[in-house]
Amino acid sequence: MRTLVTGGAGFIGSHLCDRLVKEGHDVICLDNFFTGSKENIKHLLGLPNFELIRHDVIQPILLEVDQIYHFACPASPVHYQYNPVKTIKTSVMGTINMLGLAKRVKARILLASTSEVYGDPTVHPQKEDYWGHVNPIGLRSCYDEGKRVAETLMMDYHRQNQVDIKIIRIFNTYGPRMALNDGRVVSNFIIQALKGEDITVYGDGLQTRSFQYIDDLVEGTLRMMFKDGFIGPVNIGNPHEFTILQLAEQVIRMTASASKIIYTSLPEDDPTQRQPDITLAREQLSWEPGVPLEKGLEKTIAYFESRLKEKQND
Ligand code: NAD
Ligand code: UDP
Repeated sequence: MRTLVTGGAGFIGSHLCDRLVKEGHDVICLDNFFTGSKENIKHLLGLPNFELIRHDVIQPILLEVDQIYHFACPASPVHYQYNPVKTIKTSVMGTINMLGLAKRVKARILLASTSEVYGDPTVHPQKEDYWGHVNPIGLRSCYDEGKRVAETLMMDYHRQNQVDIKIIRIFNTYGPRMALNDGRVVSNFIIQALKGEDITVYGDGLQTRSFQYIDDLVEGTLRMMFKDGFIGPVNIGNPHEFTILQLAEQVIRMTASASKIIYTSLPEDDPTQRQPDITLAREQLSWEPGVPLEKGLEKTIAYFESRLKEKQND
C-alpha cells in the first residue's frame, strides 16, 4: 500500500508512520514542521519504504497514493490559537486539497477529527449522533469549527464524488513524542512535576477529560482505515474519565515530585466534561482501548525524563 500521512512528523503522525512502516507499507510523511519535528521521525529516514516531504497542506500537491491519513493540524490550544487564521485554513483548505487528491487518484482518505466537534457538551458521555454545543465565535472556534467543516467536506465529497472516506473523532491522546512546549495538560503536568515547578491547574480542576494512550489510538485508526463499508464518524478514545485535579495528583504521586498545585484562570470556553461513548467502535471495529492511565503515564514520564536530561546535557 502507498500511504500518505499528513502531519506525519507530529506526535500522533509519527507513531502512525512507525506502525505503517513496520507493517511494510510505503509511507510518505508530509509535514510543514509547525508543531512537528524531524526528531520524531529521524529513525525512519533512510528506510527504503519511508519518504519525507516538507509541504504545507494549504497548498495542493500531486502524488500517487492508495491511502491518506489526514492528520495535519495543530492540536494543542496554545498552538492552534497562536495563528487562528492559519489553523482554520489548515483544516478547511488542507482538507479540500487532500480530498481533491483522494478524488483524483481514487485513494481512501481518513480524517483525524476530534471530540472538540462536540464543544462544551450538554450530553454525557458523547455519542456520535450528538451534534454538539460549539461557540462559533470564540477562541477555540478556529479549531472546533475548522474540524466541523472538515467533516462536512468529507461527507460532501463522499456524497457528490463518491470519495472513499473515513472519519474518526479522537479524544484527548497522550504519550511519548508530545513536544516539550506542547502546552496540553498531560505534558505540562509531567514536565512541571519533573522540574519541581508548580503544577498549573486551570480553573478549579473539576473539569474532566478521558485520556487515551497513543498505542490504543494507532490501533483504532488502522482498524478504521482497513474496515470496509463503514465511514463513521466514530469516537476513538478511552472512556475512563478523570478530573484535571485527579490527573495532577496522579502525576505528582508517580514522579514523587515536591511540586505544589496552583490554580490559575480557566481559559475561555474550556469544556467542563468529556467522555467518549465507544459502543460504535466496539461494534464496528472490535476495538477498545487497553492501556490504563497509570501504565501510559509511566511510559510518558520516562520519555520526558530522558528528553529533559538530553536538554540539560546540550
Ligand atoms: P501535533 O501538533 O503534534 O501534530 C500536528 C502535525 O501537523 C505537526 O507535525 C505539524 O507540524 C503538522 N502541521 C500543522 N499544520 C500543517 C500544515 N498546514 N501543513 C502540513 N503540516 C502541518 O498534534 P497531534 O496531537 O499529533 O494531532 C494530530 C492530529 O490529530 C490533528 O489533526 C489533531 O486535530 C488530531 N487530534 C489530536 C488529538 C490529541 O489528543 N492528540 C485529539 C483530537 C484530534
Ligand atoms: N489544563 C490545565 N493545566 C494545564 C493545561 C491544561 O489545567 O497546564 C486543563 C485545561 O484547562 C483543560 C484540560 O486541562 O480543562 C485539558 O486541556 P488540554 O489543553 O490538554 O486539552 P483540551 O482542552 O483541548 O481537551
